[in-house]
Amino acid sequence: MRIKAAVVNKKGGDFEMKDDVELADMQADDLQVHMVASGICHSDEALRKGTAEIGYPIVLGHEGSGIVEKVGPEVKDFKPGDHVVLSFYGCGNCINCLKGVPTQCLNYAANNLSGVRPDGSAHFTENGHQVADMFDQSSFTTTTVVRERNAVKVPKDLDLRQLGPLGCGYVTGSGTVFNTLKPEPGSTIAVFGTGAVGLAAMMAGRISGCTKVIAVDIVPDRLKLAKELGATDTINSKDGDTVKAIQDLTDGHGVDYAVDTTGVKAVMEDSIKALAQGGTTATIAVTDQHVDLDTWNDLCVSDRKVVGVNMGDSIPQVDIPRLIRFYKMGLFDFDKTEKFYKFDEINQANADSVSGKTIKPVLVIDEDYKPGK
Ligand SMILES: [Zn+2]
Ligand SMILES: [Zn+2]
Repeated sequence: MRIKAAVVNKKGGDFEMKDDVELADMQADDLQVHMVASGICHSDEALRKGTAEIGYPIVLGHEGSGIVEKVGPEVKDFKPGDHVVLSFYGCGNCINCLKGVPTQCLNYAANNLSGVRPDGSAHFTENGHQVADMFDQSSFTTTTVVRERNAVKVPKDLDLRQLGPLGCGYVTGSGTVFNTLKPEPGSTIAVFGTGAVGLAAMMAGRISGCTKVIAVDIVPDRLKLAKELGATDTINSKDGDTVKAIQDLTDGHGVDYAVDTTGVKAVMEDSIKALAQGGTTATIAVTDQHVDLDTWNDLCVSDRKVVGVNMGDSIPQVDIPRLIRFYKMGLFDFDKTEKFYKFDEINQANADSVSGKTIKPVLVIDEDYKPGK
């Protein structure tokens, strides 16, 4: 079927609205999803700019929310009318998926970052030419087809437009804390960068019972929001020595846990130096910058650890409903980071994300959607 989609035709090119994109036919375990909205994530920008590459032309978008329109004959858990958030695709059969860690799926890259469907077929075409997909999802479209395991059912009483970013940004930030770092109650955490991922990590630190939740950024407005969302302390790293400021806040010890969401060399290095003895930092930004590490002094002597985490080590079907329960309790106010844009305003929305003007832009794809229906 023919759909409208935002296509990036070349490395660094703008999003171009096209209404002649052909969507692949549904397969037996597919859902056809009418898109209601989609968040824009920094990974979309990395793939648009070419910091990371899948290929061009491409339909990006991997934080979609929508309504199931049709289901294939092998789909068991969804029916038309279900509200869903879309996330990445874990194959479900490899050893790591069977161990319950689909973010380490042995077929992760082939399923999510190869530009084609898990069976190798084209997800989208234009004038007979293949258009790459992302995360077997490509949410910058009016309609898409996804595997059953890409989708997570969400309650219908919530505003579906707000929920898409739970599928990537929020689950990545919070999952890094809940699933990987697992801070014990009373421990301390610093989060570097207060974008959507950082704020989600910060709120997860608060929920986990950290008694110091320190937000570090260079934008005063963001630090103010961080405070509203549960940071116990904020540091503007433009004001001086961030490592010392963190040590001063933690009786000279440094923090037990840190999360770097900036991908900036000097900041990633600070996130390691600001650790207490035995502390762990998680570096989770898409970046092409490297860090200089003195493995003996920075890591061994002080028993510090640096870990990489993909998608918050999450199981979307477990983690997203959990975040929604915290949201309903008033403990995870992710919606305060969001701003709605029209689908046609995608280039402006993305520019506002890159400049930092908007923390989490959300494209409203179906302008007729009414919350609670
Ligand atoms: Zn993302
Ligand atoms: Zn797998």
